[in-house]
Amino acid sequence: MRRLLTVLLGSAALLGGGAHAADKKPVEGEIPKAIKTLHDGFLTLDTHLDTPEHFARKGWSMLDRHAYLDDLTQVDLPRMKAGGLDGGFYVIYTGQGELTAEGYRFARDFALERATEIREMVAAHSDQFELAYTAEDAARINKSGKSFVYQSIENSWPIGEDLTLLRTFYDTGVRMAGPVHFRNNQFADSSTDPKGKIWNGYSPLGLRWLAEANRLGILIDVSHASDDVVDQSVALSKAPIIASHSGAKAIFDHPRNLDDGRIKKIAASGGAICINSVYLKAPTPPSAERKAALDALGPQPESGSEAEVKAWVKKLMEVNAKYPFPRANFETFMASMLHTLKIAGPKGVCVGADWDGGGGVEGLEDVADLPKITARLKAEGYSDADIQDIWSGNVLRLVAGAQAYAKSVAK
Ligand SMILES: [Zn+2]
Repeated sequence: MRRLLTVLLGSAALLGGGAHAADKKPVEGEIPKAIKTLHDGFLTLDTHLDTPEHFARKGWSMLDRHAYLDDLTQVDLPRMKAGGLDGGFYVIYTGQGELTAEGYRFARDFALERATEIREMVAAHSDQFELAYTAEDAARINKSGKSFVYQSIENSWPIGEDLTLLRTFYDTGVRMAGPVHFRNNQFADSSTDPKGKIWNGYSPLGLRWLAEANRLGILIDVSHASDDVVDQSVALSKAPIIASHSGAKAIFDHPRNLDDGRIKKIAASGGAICINSVYLKAPTPPSAERKAALDALGPQPESGSEAEVKAWVKKLMEVNAKYPFPRANFETFMASMLHTLKIAGPKGVCVGADWDGGGGVEGLEDVADLPKITARLKAEGYSDADIQDIWSGNVLRLVAGAQAYAKSVAK
């Protein structure tokens, strides 16, 4: 599943990350101390951490410091501390499969297992991590010296046709959910299904999914959804919505990105767009030599030991060094964020870089690099209050808004 995701997203590793390994300096050396102190003072979160994909990896721990160039991971507790990342939304991601009773059962079990793995990670390191359920939990947990763990659903395929399962996931702690992923499903059209739209937005069942998520207090996430779904979510959701990992179409015209009109619409309705580090530039097709080398390397071992994974990654990085590949960089990422800020304003922008899900660009390789964003926003003239909103204030406002609606209709 992970490899499929990596291929589809055109991950940094496959696009040539390794070529820059030697000259990458530690972030502490690049950021002025005053900025680092300022950054560390902010409550920060990222809305799209795909890190749970690694939780069941044999011999891999959130407490160890890893390196992207060794094992392709981008988030762990030591790097979160280095980058001043206080917490985030950990994703229960399920790739899209068949819309059949059997497919739904498979997806349900897969997602419940992933949710369990998140809880198990937190339980195993309960002195370092704590599950977060309300908007207030982030600051409280941070103050206690722990890292806060919200949960979100990417792709609601696992809900099948049984909307009561949304309640089950809510009870495990899910506070944000997107209806759809790369392909259309029972609830909604995807922005990237090659077959085009089948529902013209939400399906009739999808409209009930939306109403149920609202009723429970789950924040509606429109990343990956078609433009029609974005419009209908803004119009029909009872609480403002989020795009947890999306970018500006004005920077790179891709169906996963949002046009200025929709950025404006989401922000004007009280919602926010969390800036992705994927879909920032058109991928350059690999040269014949590079393609041959990647074919010879073969796919990443699916359930290999850490040693096997690292041996494979080492060979991949050798291919990357030999056949370097143009990548998007920090400037392109900031261009997407700054453009969205111009359209949405500082109350309508947040950070969701798709770490461990295909994110990362040259100069923003893992969460240890996050203070660079604060440095750049400061340099662009944004106030400390604006930057605090971008790092967590806006997202927590939306979490609170979704829960306030749920409370208002609770019997
Ligand atoms: Zn995604």
